[in-house]
Amino acid sequence: MNSSMLSEQSQLPIAFTLERPEVSVVVPIYNEVESIPPLLEAIATTLQQHNLTYEIICVDDGSKDGSSELLRRLAHERVDLRAVLLRRNYGQTAAMAAGFNHAEGQVIVTLDGDLQNDPADIPLLLAKLNEGYDLVSGWRKERQDARLTRLLPSRIANWLIVKVTEVDIHDYGCSLKAYRSEVVRDMNLYGELHRFLPVLAFIEGARIAELPVRHHPRRFGRSKYGLGRTFRVLMDLFTIFFMKKFLTRPMHGFGLFGLVSMLVGFGIGIYLTFLKLGLGQAIGDRPLLILAVVLFLTGVNLFSFGLLAELSMRTYHESQNRPIYRVREVVSSRMEPARMESTGMEPKRGALLPPSD
Ligand code: UDP
Ligand code: MG
Repeated sequence: MNSSMLSEQSQLPIAFTLERPEVSVVVPIYNEVESIPPLLEAIATTLQQHNLTYEIICVDDGSKDGSSELLRRLAHERVDLRAVLLRRNYGQTAAMAAGFNHAEGQVIVTLDGDLQNDPADIPLLLAKLNEGYDLVSGWRKERQDARLTRLLPSRIANWLIVKVTEVDIHDYGCSLKAYRSEVVRDMNLYGELHRFLPVLAFIEGARIAELPVRHHPRRFGRSKYGLGRTFRVLMDLFTIFFMKKFLTRPMHGFGLFGLVSMLVGFGIGIYLTFLKLGLGQAIGDRPLLILAVVLFLTGVNLFSFGLLAELSMRTYHESQNRPIYRVREVVSSRMEPARMESTGMEPKRGALLPPSD
């Protein structure tokens, strides 16, 4: 990128206003040095053409190829770019979480730093969001990746995720997504949960839509993932399933199974006691005895596990002041309190203001 282009951009009426930008574009970067300049150019061009106020937040996830240095330099030159440099490589989820924490926009758009997503799709996502959704997820209908090692596992994973979570979108792996900022703030990310963001958002009550988007083959560098990712996605799916179903009522899951198992075990135990004491039969070598003991102990375990889960669930919600509900809107003719609440973030009022850095 030449310097005249840069100075041209610094004069544009973007960023540095005290108001929140309309759009924050969050890009995780891990060893993508060649892609960064054309990517920033493409994002800036599209958003400026649509007269949007925006900021680009590039999170460098401990790159070793010079991406960090390039981002540091560019962030000094461009007013529309903020570089968040992580100390080491934490993984894409953590990089995105860092980006979310620094984003001030009313809408947050995420995309990959490798030019596989097309920034020209951003306005389409925003338009869809404006139809009244909280999250719009891209769908790489014609995905440009290796068929056997990437597309096939991804097909299976997506099918499974939809079956398990019942949040029906086609392409969980697509990074190009747009979110209303309130939705992002409500979600906590761990492990590799970024691909489950739509499910997490759904748990938080978000309205979700999807939109076919373009996808390009990788031009520079290499993919950071292989087949091993499929396994980790499956493990995360268990967590998500549990969260979606029982987050606020773990005892309903564990308690029911525990109780049933305990009762059946107890019943068999009574029957065996009757055989032994009432009829004088020997029961020591009966498999049924083992079954009774296993069922009873499993039941006790599950039950107490449910109680512990209840406790930690309470800690989870109460320590963060997280209510078990999300308000979309409060309608009232009394102005002040209603205005605060209509953001849906009433317990975290401080979060309404952009961070002061
Ligand atoms: N990425 C990251 N940290 C990592 C791995 C990946 O920030 O540990 C970024 C990477 O730079 C890219 C995005 O996450 O912008 C998606 O990675 P990649 O393109 O390798 O995934 P694929 O498109 O092959 O699924
Ligand atoms: Mg990619």
